[in-house]
Amino acid sequence: MTGYVHDFAEGDKDQKDLLGGKGANLAEMTNIGLPVPPGFTIDTEACRAYLAEGGFPDGLPEEVTEHLTALERTMGRQLGAADDPLLVSVRSGAKFSMPGMMETVLNVGLNDESVGGLAASSDSERFAWDSYRRLLQMFGGTVLDIDGQLFSEALEARKQEKGSDSDLDLDVEDLQALVEQFKTIIRDETGRDFPQDPREQLDLAIKAVFDSWNTDRARLYRRQERIPEDLGTAVNVQAMVFGNFGMDSGSGVAFTRDPASGDQGVYGDYLQNAQGEDVVAGIRNTVSLADFAEIDRTSYDELLEIMKRLEEHYRDMCDIEFTVERGKLWMLQTRVGKRTAEAAFRIGRHMTDEGLIDTDEAVRRVTGAQLASLMFPRFDEDADRDLLTVGVNASPGAAVGKAVFDSPTAVEWAANGEDVILVRKETNPDDLSGMVAARGILTSRGGKTSHAAVVARGMGRTCVSGADDLEVDAAAKRFTVDGGTVIEEGDTLSIDGTTGEVFAGAVPVVDSVVVRHFEGDDSEDDLIEAVDLVMTRADDARRLRVRANADTAEDAARARRFGAEGIGLCRTEHMFLGERRQLVEDLIIAEDEAGQEAALAALLPLQREDFAGILEAMDGLPVTIRLIDPPLHEFLPELTELSVEIAVADATGEQVEEKKRTLLAAVQRLHEQNPMLGLRGVRLGIQIPGLFEMQARAILEAAADRLDAGGDPRPEIMVPLVASVRELDVVKRHIEAVARDVAERRGREIPHQVGTMIELPRAAFLADRIAKSAEFFSFGTNDLTQMSWGFSRDDVESSFFSAYLDNGIFDVSPFESLDTLGVGAFVRMGTEKGRETRPDLKVGVCGEHGGDPASIHFFHSVGLDYVSCSPFRVPVARLEAGRANLDAD
Ligand code: ADP
Ligand code: MG
Ligand code: MG
Repeated sequence: MTGYVHDFAEGDKDQKDLLGGKGANLAEMTNIGLPVPPGFTIDTEACRAYLAEGGFPDGLPEEVTEHLTALERTMGRQLGAADDPLLVSVRSGAKFSMPGMMETVLNVGLNDESVGGLAASSDSERFAWDSYRRLLQMFGGTVLDIDGQLFSEALEARKQEKGSDSDLDLDVEDLQALVEQFKTIIRDETGRDFPQDPREQLDLAIKAVFDSWNTDRARLYRRQERIPEDLGTAVNVQAMVFGNFGMDSGSGVAFTRDPASGDQGVYGDYLQNAQGEDVVAGIRNTVSLADFAEIDRTSYDELLEIMKRLEEHYRDMCDIEFTVERGKLWMLQTRVGKRTAEAAFRIGRHMTDEGLIDTDEAVRRVTGAQLASLMFPRFDEDADRDLLTVGVNASPGAAVGKAVFDSPTAVEWAANGEDVILVRKETNPDDLSGMVAARGILTSRGGKTSHAAVVARGMGRTCVSGADDLEVDAAAKRFTVDGGTVIEEGDTLSIDGTTGEVFAGAVPVVDSVVVRHFEGDDSEDDLIEAVDLVMTRADDARRLRVRANADTAEDAARARRFGAEGIGLCRTEHMFLGERRQLVEDLIIAEDEAGQEAALAALLPLQREDFAGILEAMDGLPVTIRLIDPPLHEFLPELTELSVEIAVADATGEQVEEKKRTLLAAVQRLHEQNPMLGLRGVRLGIQIPGLFEMQARAILEAAADRLDAGGDPRPEIMVPLVASVRELDVVKRHIEAVARDVAERRGREIPHQVGTMIELPRAAFLADRIAKSAEFFSFGTNDLTQMSWGFSRDDVESSFFSAYLDNGIFDVSPFESLDTLGVGAFVRMGTEKGRETRPDLKVGVCGEHGGDPASIHFFHSVGLDYVSCSPFRVPVARLEAGRANLDAD
């Protein structure tokens, strides 16, 4: 396709980059023969050029003229002509939908003259003036940047004068008076008159849509949804069709399946004698599609037929916007509909059953993040609950928090660590920051397609909308339930987005059914079957193994129930805490070898017991145990505290235990400026040889006990923080000596491996040498990230990370999602070099990145054998590992 402007008939649904989602789908619907008002799309390239140059790029105005002329020819009417005017809408539409974030202007082309022409040609004065006041209102608000409230207040005042709360009771005179009022507002606010020239209106509206890409709320939304900043939006110019003609007209939105539960059936809202956003803006109460069938059977039947075709064509759940103009149905938008996690799984299963998609596709269409959200806790149904009301179950989940009635308060309280529920009559795009900050959103108006519902579902926030028993008084910061109970700002609420229930107070939460299922509960449930279908296929499809990080037998057992295929990281440091701390202190302050040995001998049986439990829980599966990693001073009292204690005692002449003084000396000796870069990991093992040897002995003896008991232990001993193969050689020699000794005493070989973590850049560079000694590798991507960037997580995350995110230096914290470009290069190189030496080298990754979807896809692509993550993330990792392999096909 050449040029910046493209007729709807030229495009198709796969051109979202160029045409935006709305434009691409309008083109698709046009081409499959659905009734779409004709129009054209100004592409995203034009937007990018406009934003870069600060004005229309060369040639664009001429192209618009060309396509407009063609549209006028098709419609047999001229834009804004005085007799029988063509009117158009100017609609934003980016690659990814950004509901309510960007601008659209309807009825472009009306002016003081053409309003008369429209009245004559339509034979309805009221309709013409209603359209004109809408244009002034939308144009004033979005194109001329005037506070929208000035218009809506004038409208409200006019309705009040009529003693009505419905815009339908305004007659021609009222609307004409409003038009005058709106024109005055525009003159007062901008210092100029509303532009009467239709083409000028069109050009200004196009520019406003382009500019809306960069509004604060659009930027915030993109950051939240991780949508790139540089895509730009397309603009669709489309002939108007009118739902505000009268009661035989109207406008509606619909989903081809329930976007909350995934159930089959059609869901939607319809509003008679209404235009555009009226249906979602809550200006009047909408009716369901079932009622729409009563109102206009012919249009309803046609709508159903079209929805069926759309599902078959897109092979997915679609959401649509439509308008009925005097009994004729028009399609104004469709796209693959956003849905809740629950619905995503259910729809996958249903569509597989229906033969619309195969199971691979069902796996591709759900995400690890969605699975994770299904594993969130739910409200306890057996608890005492004080039900206030039931609204629309708009976005599932169980949220508890304090009621707040405006977004700034939500943001402020959340920043102070409070959980809040944002309560509004209805939300608008300015509420986005509050919605992000809140645990849940409660509105008294609007259904499943309201702004609150759509945005909350997109963000995975719990939302109950349309709780119309609630009288929300935002100014007074309270709501009243059916004239009774009053909830004030700060009162605790519990909202259930799965059922729509709203409770006073905090309702206790319980595990989700999905978690209960993974735990082995075999009760049947539609959602469980859907999850099972996907998990079975994902397990089948994946090449990456999934292990868990677990330090206790209980965690190991849970991880195994969740599908872990071994342990990728068993940290041993927590085994030195609590009562055992004493023994570590003894070890450190021991004055001679005998003292050290005594301390180690006391630790040995305790460690052995720890390992035996874990090896038993993971019988038959590999268990990677990391020898102690953190600096020893972490196990000692704090320097200042201890110094102060002793100083105070000395000053008051109190007796101080000799041991305390020795301890203080040890603490001072071990104190480090940069503990992260100090005496830790393998360095510790070399400095105090007995320590690693004791741990190795405990592991191997535990394994021997398991063998004696008929078990199948598979311990893998992992040495942390190795930079040089010589470090590993030293430690490995000691471990192998212990292994020979244990084998001799127990009269049997103990199967085991000795490997290393790759968590220093030097180790990645020299992985070929290290692999001569290491029998396996595990990338410690936390330390590798710290050591690559040269910052320590604990120090920097809370200090300058937000500035880095704001400045776009990170899209996401490198501790959350692997920095594939930098840290990832070390992972790739380390893997390749290691396998040059040892082609069958087993390579895994441990640390939080092992449970992060994007990182998992990367680890798959560099050919790792497994990822390891926390037990609760294991199902997520299994699913994403499957998706990674299916994506790669
Ligand atoms: P959004 O992306 O915010 O949904 P849209 O561009 O879809 O914005 O338009 C806003 C509203 O105006 C929608 O309800 C849409 O159906 C309606 N609309 C847009 N273009 C037309 C048109 N040509 N005729 C009638 N209604 C329209
Ligand atoms: Mg909108
Ligand atoms: Mg729309």
